[in-house]
Amino acid sequence: MVSGKQTVRVRFAPSPTGHLHVGGARTALYNHLYARKTGGVFVLRVEDTDAARSTLESYEGILRGMRWLGLDWDEGPGVGGDCGPYVQSARSVLYHSEAQRLTDEGKAYFCFCTAGEIELMKLEAQERKLPIRYTGPCRNLDASAAGEKLARGLPHVIRFRMPRQGQIRFRDIIRGEFSFSNEELDDFVLIKSDGKPTYNFAVVVDDAHMKITHVIRGDDHISNTPRQVHLYLALGYQLPKFAHLPMILGKDGTRLSKRHGATAIDFYREKHYLPDAMVNYLALLGWSYDDRRELFSRKALVQHFSLGKVSRKPAMFDMDKMEYINAEHFKQLDLMKKTRLVHDMLGKQGLIPPDFEVDLTRPVDLKLVPGIEPVTEGAPPSGGMIGSREFQRLALIINAMGNRIKLLKDVPDMVRYFYKDDFRRNETAVKMHLMRPEVPARMSALAGAYEKQQFFDRESVENTLRDLADGMDIEAGELIHPCRVALTGDRVSPDIFWVIVLLGKAKTIERLRSAASLN
Ligand code: GLU
Repeated sequence: MVSGKQTVRVRFAPSPTGHLHVGGARTALYNHLYARKTGGVFVLRVEDTDAARSTLESYEGILRGMRWLGLDWDEGPGVGGDCGPYVQSARSVLYHSEAQRLTDEGKAYFCFCTAGEIELMKLEAQERKLPIRYTGPCRNLDASAAGEKLARGLPHVIRFRMPRQGQIRFRDIIRGEFSFSNEELDDFVLIKSDGKPTYNFAVVVDDAHMKITHVIRGDDHISNTPRQVHLYLALGYQLPKFAHLPMILGKDGTRLSKRHGATAIDFYREKHYLPDAMVNYLALLGWSYDDRRELFSRKALVQHFSLGKVSRKPAMFDMDKMEYINAEHFKQLDLMKKTRLVHDMLGKQGLIPPDFEVDLTRPVDLKLVPGIEPVTEGAPPSGGMIGSREFQRLALIINAMGNRIKLLKDVPDMVRYFYKDDFRRNETAVKMHLMRPEVPARMSALAGAYEKQQFFDRESVENTLRDLADGMDIEAGELIHPCRVALTGDRVSPDIFWVIVLLGKAKTIERLRSAASLN
């Protein structure tokens, strides 16, 4: 057993046969949190023994997902470490020497049965309602007979000699005591006929040789654990502690899968979810601090995480909650960080540079926003992107949007009218506020009033509109509503006077005039 003083060493051991999924990422995260919490070591090991299904694309995708989530590993691919190589296909010499050790000690044996013969044993067991296990002659083959077959180059596997009686027990940190009857456990294969190790064999050899102290993984592996414990004992390795994480279900109560929507971490990365929010949400899939608190920074997770608080009950993947947590994390970012993220996204989607330039002439407006310094007239923009006018305009746009932004992915649609003329028009809003007989004259008058105004700052654009309404003896709303639809295409927008300032004089006048000519 692991003694108290030993450095914690945990690992995430994905098979590169597909995407990094929510379940795998949760396993990686819990290992990561446990390592960070205990001052331990987090190892990444790639289990690519299934050559037919392992791909480079998947391997790279998993690493990309881990990096995006900020789950940095202390040992593993790209990082190195004393226990490498960290890719199983590069460790076959070790598996073979350990398998040899077991066969030399009589704890494993060579099996020359054909696939057909094995199939027959299965059918027979099924018919007689017995546990499926190897019942062929090779278990009792003596060393010289086996040696002779090997010398003839007959295809073979290496099987573990499972005791036929007794029980195997282990304790799981989360699930408690387990006991399996050896009778139910087969003489499972350690080395396949192609020379490759099986998962159960390679995982034990590697966990032991990588000095893993805690095996934290999904509970779909519980049924493998008794076989693995047998191997630890047979090989004379020190047993790690086991912690099997509860499964993750979709809303319909079945195991989370593609049917439940996006389960690949790449999906969330591409949709611009915040990695901190994703990590927060993944942490809640099976662990809770108390019954109430849901929002955690990475630091708080490291501080509060414990395996003792991981539930035995399955966790439910809930997209609405994920979105809520993402929105909360976005809200908490400072304006600079938000602007950087959105600027990057708008750049990629071709909204920046915009179709029209807006000169923000009034430094007073810029100063209203913390962290934004006005670009001095004539001076070259300093600090690259951040000093640029478009960055400043975007910061003001985001500031004006306040808490309307919930998901980054929604932002391009929400701000399109600040960058392009082909923004979406809400037909009902157009009908209701622009297609009325009195509107053209009012929009022309407003355009005319703005035409005469030199500086477009928040205060003066508001005064101009209110003075005009007073002069026309109408409520300011009679101008504000159609103006909003004319400029943004919709009935709801951030503060309309900020919208006017941030669209700039020329664009505001152009859109008001075009609204005036609609009917
Ligand atoms: N390669 C295994 C998987 O992806 C790892 C299981 C384990 O952590 O032991 O499921």
